[in-house]
Amino acid sequence: AHQQAITTAANPAVTRDKTREIKVYANIGGISDTEEGLSLGAEGVGLFRTEFLYLERTTPPTEEEQIAVYQRIAQLLDHRPLIIRTLDVGGDKPIPYLDLPQESNPFLGWRGIRFCLDHPDILKTQLRAILKASLGHQIKIMFPMIATVQEIQAAKAILAQVRAELRQAGVLFDEKMEVGIMVEIPSAVILAEQLAAEVDFFSIGTNDLSQYVMAADRTHPLVASLVDAMHPAVLRMIQQTVQAAHKAGLWVGLCGELAANPLAAPILLGLGLDEVSLNPQGIPAFKQAIAQLTMAESEAIAASAMQQNSATDVREVVSAFLNRQL
Ligand code: PEP
Ligand code: MG
Repeated sequence: AHQQAITTAANPAVTRDKTREIKVYANIGGISDTEEGLSLGAEGVGLFRTEFLYLERTTPPTEEEQIAVYQRIAQLLDHRPLIIRTLDVGGDKPIPYLDLPQESNPFLGWRGIRFCLDHPDILKTQLRAILKASLGHQIKIMFPMIATVQEIQAAKAILAQVRAELRQAGVLFDEKMEVGIMVEIPSAVILAEQLAAEVDFFSIGTNDLSQYVMAADRTHPLVASLVDAMHPAVLRMIQQTVQAAHKAGLWVGLCGELAANPLAAPILLGLGLDEVSLNPQGIPAFKQAIAQLTMAESEAIAASAMQQNSATDVREVVSAFLNRQL
């Protein structure tokens, strides 16, 4: 059945003083999440985890299969942005037919862009599918797990090659498509200024950034309490990334689970993020939190959060403020 695009305009997340707006997008794994996100007020998709297209099969999805999914989601979004993240395998996301090796430290191993740059055939098929789906939509490409300037340059070189081949073949695509990276490895935060010169946008992945900043495996129960994106060490990394992005004239979003915590809303707003992307169920509460804040209050809360010693202290600072407000 050909479903209609959902066209009801989502209310933007605007601060109580009406001085600032933050875009609120959905994290999705496929078509059904897109529908759910739109029904819950998403203004776009900030992270399409394309791993899901590669799971529960015996071979990688073909170019045609991928085009069909990307176009379907783009149609549902009806000109709202769709940020497609290239395959992020490895770590906690194994895919049997890709024959990934057993690793003693999978989160420090062969995953994301590292794997894709070593398998240019898989990456090229995906990039070709994204480009072919792009015409007439607002699709953007995002590369995961970028740790170095060389990696984004290599990924962009492959993208340039695919684009040249399509032009040669007379295939039309969105020539202005934005290209961004996930900032989810501490080296990318430290190199944000250099990386900003290579891309159009950043999206901060606080799930991985937290585990890498704290050196604590995000799936390990005994160290799980260390992996907390509300820790001032992680918040300071977010702050540095936003500042570097804005200095270079880029927009910057955040697509980790931190955005699903309403206590984080004043901090993210106060730090100046332009966009957050979160699981669809979290969207209404996030928007409601933004509507109760002013920009000045949020900046003060963010500044105070940066000075705390622990995630617990950060939560207390924010809670105390929100309770005072009630
Ligand atoms: C992240 O690392 O914060 C992120 C959004 O990506 P994933 O959870 O898919 O690794
Ligand atoms: Mg990640």
